[in-house]
Amino acid sequence: MKTKVVDHIGIAVHSIDEALSFWQNTLGIECTGVEEVAEQRVKTAFLPVGDTEIELLEATSEDSPVAKFIEKKGEGIHHLALRVDDLEAALAELKEKGIRLIDETPRYGAGGARIAFVHPKATGGILLELSERKE
Ligand code: ZN
Repeated sequence: MKTKVVDHIGIAVHSIDEALSFWQNTLGIECTGVEEVAEQRVKTAFLPVGDTEIELLEATSEDSPVAKFIEKKGEGIHHLALRVDDLEAALAELKEKGIRLIDETPRYGAGGARIAFVHPKATGGILLELSERKE
């Protein structure tokens, strides 16, 4: 598997508007867009820092995975995303190595990426996202 860059770091927040006051106004990182991903019941905001983005995640419904995360652990780092050159190949390789996956096939991610999650039980406690983007 070829990993290219830390694509983004997902941070679960109660409110993107409130979080932007720190990330954008205090730190000066410009938010380049907000997108709702209906399938994951989440609204995301992107703040690029070099080749990597900070991705703020706000739940859009109470049964959203992000809402459940905040309920259990509070706001904070939710997942780490690594960009790979070929997502299908990466998933096949992990499956072959017996790694537990949340998504066995790619799904749609914010920003037009194709993504899949690897189970935290297989990564030492981190929700790991693999992401493939057209460049
Ligand atoms: Zn993500």
